[in-house]
Amino acid sequence: MEISIVIPCFNEEEVLPLTVSRLKKALAEWTNDFEVIFIDDGSTDKTWELIKNYCKEDPRLKGVKFSRNFGQESAVVCGVELAKGEKVAIIDADLQDPPELLKQMVEEVNKGFDVVYGQRKFREGETFFKKFTANLFYKTMNFLSETKIPENASNFRVINNKARNAFLKVSDRNIFVRGVFSWIGFKQKPLIFDRPARAGGETKYPSLRMFKLALAGIILHSKSPLRFSLLLAIFLLISILIQVALSVFELIEIRSEIILIQALFFLNFIVLWLMGEYVGHILDQTLKRPFFLIDEVTDNLNKL
Ligand code: UDP
Ligand code: MG
Repeated sequence: MEISIVIPCFNEEEVLPLTVSRLKKALAEWTNDFEVIFIDDGSTDKTWELIKNYCKEDPRLKGVKFSRNFGQESAVVCGVELAKGEKVAIIDADLQDPPELLKQMVEEVNKGFDVVYGQRKFREGETFFKKFTANLFYKTMNFLSETKIPENASNFRVINNKARNAFLKVSDRNIFVRGVFSWIGFKQKPLIFDRPARAGGETKYPSLRMFKLALAGIILHSKSPLRFSLLLAIFLLISILIQVALSVFELIEIRSEIILIQALFFLNFIVLWLMGEYVGHILDQTLKRPFFLIDEVTDNLNKL
């Protein structure tokens, strides 16, 4: 099978009919050899009834219903796990990721890219607050994190089998799909597009939920926050040294109680930093990510 299309759906009854017809039309232009996997992430509206009906009409459409709402990221993982296609596409249900772009993304994958991801140039119909916080998130994440993620990339992407297998080797509990796709490496390429507004319904991400996802993304991909107390310790040490130096040249009179307080905090921060380093190693150990991922081997080593 050429491609599996994974669609996480949470209370999408308003858009689903339009999404299905546009997706089928877009796919018909270049392939018949596909499956669409809908993951109903615990919807409380008619989403699941709709999915079941579509699947009855067309066996290439398949559906899974979660027992409750587990979140978009879990739905994506489930879909990628179930996918049988040589390539897998991940696409939102609300038509913010235009299905017409899949053709071009697949062409890029066929040219040799392992991951082709949608990168939004312009976000239509989103509030200033959402754009501002999204921007702040990408900047903070990329400043702090060892895994750099492309700014304004969503989960919208087409991946080949190599990237799929690598992705499935990662078993982070609070997985941040975009972060993991950057983490796996391989040959990746953005496809820049103007992101339209939702075709119907409302965003399923109120600010608090967005914040939680963003925080999980940063924490699972960055150990720098754990080193914050080292920065504070260095700052205190410099402050103590400056005060001592100034008093040696008799420019200020040193106050022993202030130096003592600073020295105690310095020790405190050093201990906190050391504990942070241990926590970082415990995090690595518990995440159990693969030690490495192999892209290619020479012909005489293809036993791997
Ligand atoms: N979604 C999901 N589970 C959730 C929240 C969202 O499966 O708990 C799906 C949703 O149905 C949509 C995609 O994830 O297909 C993106 O959600 P949404 O459009 O609300 O996010 P936004 O585009 O506003 O960031
Ligand atoms: Mg959306």
